Amino acid sequence: MINAIGYAAKHSYSRLKPLEFERDEAGPSQVEIEVLYCGVCHSDIHQVKNEWSNTVYPCMPGHEVVGRVSRTGADVTAHAVGDVVGVGCMIDSCRHCEPCEAGDENYCEGPNSWLATYNGPMVSAKKAPDGHNMYGRDNTYGGYSSVIVVDQDFVLKIPATLRPEVAAPILCAGVTTYSPMKHWGVKAGDRVGVIGFGGLGDMAAKLAKAMGAEVTVFTTSKDKRDEAARLGVQVVMENDEDALKSLKSSFDFMLSTIPEKHDVNPFVALLKRDRTLVVVGALEPLAPINNQAVAFSRKSVGGSLIGSIADTQEVLDFCAEHGIGPDIEVIPIQQINDAYQQVEDGDVRFRYVIDMASLQAEHAS
Ligand code: NDP
Ligand code: ZN
Repeated sequence: MINAIGYAAKHSYSRLKPLEFERDEAGPSQVEIEVLYCGVCHSDIHQVKNEWSNTVYPCMPGHEVVGRVSRTGADVTAHAVGDVVGVGCMIDSCRHCEPCEAGDENYCEGPNSWLATYNGPMVSAKKAPDGHNMYGRDNTYGGYSSVIVVDQDFVLKIPATLRPEVAAPILCAGVTTYSPMKHWGVKAGDRVGVIGFGGLGDMAAKLAKAMGAEVTVFTTSKDKRDEAARLGVQVVMENDEDALKSLKSSFDFMLSTIPEKHDVNPFVALLKRDRTLVVVGALEPLAPINNQAVAFSRKSVGGSLIGSIADTQEVLDFCAEHGIGPDIEVIPIQQINDAYQQVEDGDVRFRYVIDMASLQAEHAS
């Protein structure tokens, strides 16, 4: 057993607090990773507060994990001790269903779907030689922790030119926005609209721009206009009806990152004929969509969930190649509860990343 420490919530209404726990040692195909940094995704907040009604407590979030390999199982060939590596939203999947065989593990149709890095049931495709479940407990604990143990196939390589703290949010915010843009074929010269300029929105805007698209960010925050200008993207206030009217039927692709139920109809109107608006933000029922507006121009409204392991590696490499990454604010873990409040208030620019060295203070105390 490995003695570990992390920050977890015991109930939907409680703050995150230090929790000592044990992780199983790395099995033959697994990698033990000393966590260096972990991004703070808005999903962490939804999960801690049980806003998706499926949280198992204690809940230890964290699925934008970057660390250093500290031990490898006997069969590990893909990673070596000392490598800087990443872990995103998934740590395993069934590996046998059609999506898994096609490399779309994030749409795994196995009996337990993919195994989430946190709040996932401990049901692994792989069993240890003695037949026990390799992940061993009732609930996975994520990257707000000192150490994590993951199968080598679900561990990403962090390019040397990306600072580890900058790489962390690419593992969720990056791939969640990259994957739909790739799937729906965003290309140079396209007009791309990004709705909601937060952690995902910042990555979406930068990725689309690096793909050669002309990007417009839709925001509710006047004070983010300067940041958009700094990025070299256009910015429109979501309540500016004249601006919305002038942009009618002008976008090739739109991505909504708004984290709660919202009305996409005003944005559907901005799509060109045959084009798609993809919602990645709200994982819940949306306000009703007016199919008259959709049907008359053969438009689509779609959804997309994180991204595959291959896409995650691809977006890490893409960011390294194009010299882009999220805007981050590094915090010690002791500030995590205030940070959650600031994310909910829209005060972060644009992603908090926890420096896990700050956990050592907990060990000492
Ligand atoms: P952030 O809070 O960092 O950003 C969301 C942004 O949306 C805000 O900054 C704000 O931007 C805007 N916004 C917030 N509330 C509202 C509102 N009520 N109406 C309109 N706009 C609003 O969150 P993240 O980017 O980390 O995550 C966004 C969502 O994506 C979350 O719900 C998260 O759970 C989900 N998610 C989904 C994934 C998937 O696989 N589909 C994967 C990862 C995350 P502005 O100030 O510009 O208006
Ligand atoms: Zn996330």
